[in-house]
Amino acid sequence: MKKKVIIANWKMNHDFYETTSYLRNLLKIIFENKINQKKIIIAPSFPFLHISNQILQGTTLSIAAQNIHQMDNGSYTGEVSAPMLRSIGIKKVILGHSERRKYFTETNEILIKKIKIALKYGFNIIFCVGETEVDREKKKHFITVKNQLEKTIFYFSLEEINSFIIAYEPIWAIGTGKTATPEIAQHMHQYIRTLFLNKYGKRRANDLSILYGGSINDMNAKDLFLQKDIDGGLVGNYSLNIKKFLKIIQS
Ligand code: PEP
Repeated sequence: MKKKVIIANWKMNHDFYETTSYLRNLLKIIFENKINQKKIIIAPSFPFLHISNQILQGTTLSIAAQNIHQMDNGSYTGEVSAPMLRSIGIKKVILGHSERRKYFTETNEILIKKIKIALKYGFNIIFCVGETEVDREKKKHFITVKNQLEKTIFYFSLEEINSFIIAYEPIWAIGTGKTATPEIAQHMHQYIRTLFLNKYGKRRANDLSILYGGSINDMNAKDLFLQKDIDGGLVGNYSLNIKKFLKIIQS
């Protein structure tokens, strides 16, 4: 069964106090309002993953890292490894975010290594794909997303990709306020599901949670989430504010 999932990607925002008070308040509101907790994943910054995980312990909310390094350990100043994260109980990681591809030159080759190390340490992977504005203008958006999948995830077996979640995040929509229309998003989600169908079969395609990301807000979330192949969202800016994020969750 595919799951409805909402992920808050906080990026490089929220200090220790903001992180801990947000999570405690979120839990309180969720329990008080009996909001189904199963769908919510929060991705805070590295220094606060441990405390965040402790705060959410015993609940069905969970924590994801925003990145991992592709090596087990070694002389990689400033980096954080998969086993380090596992040692503090983190089991989920976002990979392939367009900001990582753009600012930290994460290529498909690096992403394959990151997927390998994440699988080695038993992480569930939230994998992002999405086209640029130019790709879309040139009507190359489908081919771009297909290439991103074929050059990364599709090298892996059905067993290996069993716990993956895909996030379709058109780059032109991330942090820009320009959301894809529900129709545009649905069209791409359906296409991604078909690619999984052709590669891994009906069962995996039907079970796959495909999230939309890119300027989701409390006004547009509902229409996006009503689409047949949109199974939730990866939310950046609007997840930073607890009230706005709750409205999206409730959509
Ligand atoms: C993101 O960075 O994953 C994202 C979707 O950001 P925003 O919601 O701010 O566009």
